[in-house]
Order: sequence, then C-alpha cells, then structure tokens
Amino acid sequence: MIIFKTTEKLSNYIDIQKQAGKTIGFVPTMGALHPGHISLIHSSIAHNDITVASIFVNPTQFNNVQDFEKYPKTLDRDIDMLEASGCDLLFFPSREEIYVPGKELVQYDLGFLDTVLEAAYRPGHFQGVGQVVMRLLEIVQPDDLFIGQKDFQQCMVITRLIKDAGLPVTVHIHPTLREIDGLAMSSRNMRLGKVERAKAPLIYKALQKIAGEIKPGPLKEITGNAAGSLAEQGFKVDYLELADAGTLQPVDTWDGKIPVVVLAAAYLGEVRLIDNLLISAAFPDSINSQL
Ligand code: AMP
Repeated sequence: MIIFKTTEKLSNYIDIQKQAGKTIGFVPTMGALHPGHISLIHSSIAHNDITVASIFVNPTQFNNVQDFEKYPKTLDRDIDMLEASGCDLLFFPSREEIYVPGKELVQYDLGFLDTVLEAAYRPGHFQGVGQVVMRLLEIVQPDDLFIGQKDFQQCMVITRLIKDAGLPVTVHIHPTLREIDGLAMSSRNMRLGKVERAKAPLIYKALQKIAGEIKPGPLKEITGNAAGSLAEQGFKVDYLELADAGTLQPVDTWDGKIPVVVLAAAYLGEVRLIDNLLISAAFPDSINSQL
C-alpha cells in the first residue's frame, strides 16, 4: 500500500491512474479502524480498480474539545489493517492540506438535515463533515464513495452535498457491522469501560424492540418507553426517534407504509454512541443506495 501525505503527490498518482482508465473507489475515515471500516474497503475493492482510504480526524466536526482530544489514534494498527485488507493507497493529510490557509470555508445549505437529531445536539457538526468530505472529494476525485449507514444522517448529508454540487460520484451506503452482542462497531467503543461495554448493546436491543413492536398509528409511546428504559439503565439519551427514512422528518403517527428509521444517540459515561435501524424492506431511493 502506498501512503501519501500531500495533495500534490496523491493528485499526480490519481491523474496517472485515471489516464490509464482505472476507476477510483474512496473510503474516508477518521482512523481507529475496525472491521466496519474494512467492510467498506472490501466493497470498494470489489467495485473499483484502485481503492483509496483516508485518515483525517477532522477537528471542526467535534463540537466538544474533549471528544476530539480523546478520539482514539491507532495509526500503526490502522496501516496494518489497511495493508491486510488489500487497500491500494492511504491518504493521511495534515490539517493544512484539508483546511488550506487563506481559502475561505464554504457554509453548506443542508436545510432540515442541519437542524434535527445529530445536528440539533452537535451544532456545526455537519458543516464540518461537509467541509472535509467535499475537500477530500476534490482531491481524490473518486468514481465511487463508500460510507456507512451507521451514520445515517451523515449519509443523507453527503448524498445531498454530492447531488447539489453535481459531482459525478456514486454513493454506496454500506450496512452497519456489529459486534456479536449487537453493538454497532465504532472507534469510540474503545473508550468504554468494562461495565459500560456490557451495557452498550442495550441501544441496539431498544431499536430492535421498537422495530418488532411498531404498528400503524401513534408512535410517541413506543419511543418514549424505549428511551425511558435506556435512561433507567444509566444512559443519558440525547434522542431516540422514529423518522421518515427518506427525509428524516419526524413521524409521530405512522401510516404503516412509508419507510421509517429509528435513530438513537446516547451517552454511557463520557462516551456518546449512535445507532439506527431501518424499518422497511429497502433503503429509500432518495438516499441513492447502491448496495
Ligand atoms: P469514521 O471513521 O467514524 O468517520 O467512519 C468512517 C466511515 O466508516 C463512515 O462512512 C462510517 O459511517 C463508516 N462506519 C463506521 N462504523 C461502521 C460500522 N460499524 N459498519 C459499517 N460502516 C461503519
């Protein structure tokens, strides 16, 4: 695997590959890799001639300084995992390569997506995501982008940004990889203590319970009960809500037909965990799933 730290070197390499007719698949990450990330790499390898991964812990998408400082950094292990996965290239840029000094930061119009759920609890988060993802897409120029459904709202944001910018990039949204006990794999899981780690799968259990109980009609009670149970177990719940899976508009009363998604974010101690579960047979077209 080749490792590039500068835009110039990466761009030269990509230009040569593209001129040779090769397709480029791209998997952006913040490092501290786990098998969920590697599943995206494998999809990219299956779809493309060249797979590029990036590792960049983006300061602007952390609205809590402590969360940024404590975000796990495991570069040597990440490189080993990427090598073993068959990834062709790692882009590991400095801050200046992404936030070019003197270049003005764009503020993106994300509409409703920038006000609800994650956006409501993490102000500025999706602007930060947009700034880094659009810069990385500008540098890597991929044909295909591979992202995880684990970050459901982020998938919608990125899909919208690509569409609004008219970029010729196909977005592939990959299912969430889980630990055996159901906990969604996440870099932040490393920060859970033993007791917290044992409790953490209760989030997914709550989502599954809702998926099992949901029926047409009012939904507030079902999500309220689930959030209450999590709180009793020691979680500090930011939200646990059912939303239209195509728009993320809240669904208080379900017609039994529109695809819905149940999304949760909750703290266990200092660690914030998120998860979601789609309650529909197919991922909605509006998110442009390719998988
Ligand atoms: P991150 O390093 O957390 O920014 O994640 C990089 C990419 O991996 C994002 O597209 C995430 O949605 C995706 N991802 C994170 N966790 C998982 C998981 N458990 N399964 C599949 N994809 C994931």
